[in-house]
Amino acid sequence: MVSTIICPRCKTKNSKKAKVCYNCKNTLKVHKKPSILGSNPESRIEPKIIIIGALIFIISNAIILNIAYDYSILVSGFATMVYLYYAFKDSQVPTASKNKTRILGFKIILHYLAIVALGIITLFALGYAN
Ligand SMILES: [Zn+2]
Repeated sequence: MVSTIICPRCKTKNSKKAKVCYNCKNTLKVHKKPSILGSNPESRIEPKIIIIGALIFIISNAIILNIAYDYSILVSGFATMVYLYYAFKDSQVPTASKNKTRILGFKIILHYLAIVALGIITLFALGYAN
């Protein structure tokens, strides 16, 4: 928990709310809270992950479709989840913020839904599903 800002010029501890250093009147950097969407690069959709995920979904679905028809969606969905886990495993979650973790979770779910939607549409187009 950081409740103080250290002045970059004189190293004096200042209140987090302080805009100028009370010792040397140096302007302190205002730490903006990262916004949930937009400027925050962590919240962007990554098309590369969706395309690779969709390929995994389609390929695993097409393979398993011939072995166990009833479980093809289930298994390929699981394969996609495993892929997403590895794709986002190294995603940076700066500071142990619960909010950030929630954003990352939301992002993974969003990617998963996009992959499954794209995968199912492609499978229909290829004539695998009926
Ligand atoms: Zn200062």
